[in-house]
Amino acid sequence: MKRRTFLSSTALASLGVLFTRSGFASSSERNTIKQPSSPIKKPVVVSTWIHGMDANKAAWSLLKANKSALDAVEQGVRVTESDATNRSVGLGGNPDRDGNVTLDACIMNHESECGAVACLQNIENPISVARKVMEGTPHVMIVGKGAEEFAYEKGFPKKNLLTDEAKTAWEKWKATEELKKPEINHENHDTIGMLAIDEDGNLSGACTTSGWAYKLPGRVGDSPIIGAGLFVDNEIGAACATGMGEAVIRIAGSHTVVELMRQGKTPNEACKLAVERIIAKHKDLKGLQVGFLALNKNGEAGGYSTYAGFNYAYTDNAKAELIDAGYEMEW
Ligand code: ASP
Repeated sequence: MKRRTFLSSTALASLGVLFTRSGFASSSERNTIKQPSSPIKKPVVVSTWIHGMDANKAAWSLLKANKSALDAVEQGVRVTESDATNRSVGLGGNPDRDGNVTLDACIMNHESECGAVACLQNIENPISVARKVMEGTPHVMIVGKGAEEFAYEKGFPKKNLLTDEAKTAWEKWKATEELKKPEINHENHDTIGMLAIDEDGNLSGACTTSGWAYKLPGRVGDSPIIGAGLFVDNEIGAACATGMGEAVIRIAGSHTVVELMRQGKTPNEACKLAVERIIAKHKDLKGLQVGFLALNKNGEAGGYSTYAGFNYAYTDNAKAELIDAGYEMEW
């Protein structure tokens, strides 16, 4: 073997890289997802928290009409974004410390294409802007003013997102709590993350939030960060996160859950292990609510959280229900 050929082939071997008919695959990354005992369940859609029930309805109407998981998750979470009574996502979301509603969202499809927006103001449906970033630009994430301008260029209307109720609550908080560090607890956060598998067996996911109530201006959580708030690998499964984004980012949470499923863990086991990792990495667990939700390639779902109270909406051909996730600790 010539020296140059030898060097390049040993370099590839040391990286554990093999060529396959479909492109690259790492030899140490062989997928060990268990074969289902019964036929693959599809379509299926899952989403975080009780607001997921309405969001799932919208997603389900597309999935049952043979539409893509990508369309389903986008349309599904738009329902929550446009619900003015929901104080943690889109319109009506709690503002930052200065009274500005800033939104984070991302979307990812079965081809590992993704798009995200962060710290976006005055746009009701950031998930659709994230999809435009994915499909209409060479970028993955656009933030702040740039994202807002991009949205206007794409025809999204300007909208005041601070409802009277959210404003009143913020003013009350400001009068009493302004000088304190804003605490995250089970009442002031509730992202919607949604995962779906469609009739073709393809997975997609979406995640959207107004983030931590009364956060420092400019703060971005896990929700728009691919690998943290959301991750999809069409060979294995998809995962999303809710709760204290800072903790999720520290362990690249959703990517971790998908990689654990790649190693053969069920969605429930993978979410539990990710939660245990978060607990192990934090000295102070007070208020550290984090929940993971996962859906694998077999159409099996699971969820787990640090503290009690996390639930998720589940819809398939047979049922639509709210499921209480397992947890490590009581409040
Ligand atoms: N994960 C979101 C964030 O940290 C908040 C939440 O899920 O409640 O911005």
